[in-house]
Amino acid sequence: MLTIDAHLDLAMNALEWNRDLQQPVTAIRLREQGKIDLPDRGRGVVSLPDLRKGNVGLVVATQIGRYVAPENPLPGWHSPEQAWAQTQGQLAWYRAMEEAGELTSITDIPTLETHLNLWKNPSAAADKKPLGYILSLEGADSLITVGHLERAWQQGLRAVGPAHYGPGRYANGTDATGNLSALGKALLREMERLNIILDATHLCDEAFWDALNCFRGPVWASHSNCRQLVNHNRQFSNDQLRELISRQAVIGLALDAWMLVPDWVRGRSTPQAHNCALDTALDHLDHICQLAGNTNHVGIGSDLDGAFGKEQCPYDLETIADLQKIPVLLARRGYTPTDIENVMHGNWLRFLRHAWQ
Ligand SMILES: [Zn+2]
Repeated sequence: MLTIDAHLDLAMNALEWNRDLQQPVTAIRLREQGKIDLPDRGRGVVSLPDLRKGNVGLVVATQIGRYVAPENPLPGWHSPEQAWAQTQGQLAWYRAMEEAGELTSITDIPTLETHLNLWKNPSAAADKKPLGYILSLEGADSLITVGHLERAWQQGLRAVGPAHYGPGRYANGTDATGNLSALGKALLREMERLNIILDATHLCDEAFWDALNCFRGPVWASHSNCRQLVNHNRQFSNDQLRELISRQAVIGLALDAWMLVPDWVRGRSTPQAHNCALDTALDHLDHICQLAGNTNHVGIGSDLDGAFGKEQCPYDLETIADLQKIPVLLARRGYTPTDIENVMHGNWLRFLRHAWQ
């Protein structure tokens, strides 16, 4: 079944992890054997061939570059200009993948519908179809000024999550606190003018409510799970989920183990010992459906290349192609064929067609 994944950090993996995503996962892992510079070395689960194998024909792919002030212990760039340059390098990788026939940029209804027709066409060779990608910015720190947003829009940027981890120039994110700054509000106004989707993921609670109160454009949460099931500020409370549902948002299920099962300890816990399977992940998706009273507000935003790999994934997922196990698991829970299509692609498509009309 055609699958849409609303959150992957493809360019970050290509440039910062030095992964040649044109190779299959097996080859990327082999080349990383013996390397210990990062916890997920040799354990990646995402590549372009494996996305095709899993019929993931459309992804939301990020640019990401954090600015850090001298006292901020998080990794990041020491000036917004450096962060901007980093995201421009990431854009250059996406462009190179377009030239190689691996990716195609989706920016509006015509490019979306043309791409969907290609993926529906059974005669087009499945291993040759370009993957569609919608460009998104995770954390807005790299926008040197609010004026840079229009330039980014011209480059194809269609969604922005103002925050990531920690304090941000425009909004505070996961593990931080505080209301939106004047700069953050100005960014939201410019996003509204350009019809850029607000990604609510990673906004700290105060910034979340500020943003939803002042932003009138389309809102989604590309990769977020439920606080009721795993209690952490990175997850959404029921009130936040209800607000997103009332705003016609779609919420993407993230498949990072620590967000799926309680009491995960990074580097120590294992998916098997914590009983973290794809079906466990679906508890989060199901919780949102129960709050909504329907299946119209959930999708997949796997984050499967977000600085973790097999060591921190559901244990029955070997590569991203295993997203194709989800329809079977949903059917077992009593989801109808229409519900399952909603989850795998229908809700994201409805959202995009409405946002871009
Ligand atoms: Zn994220």
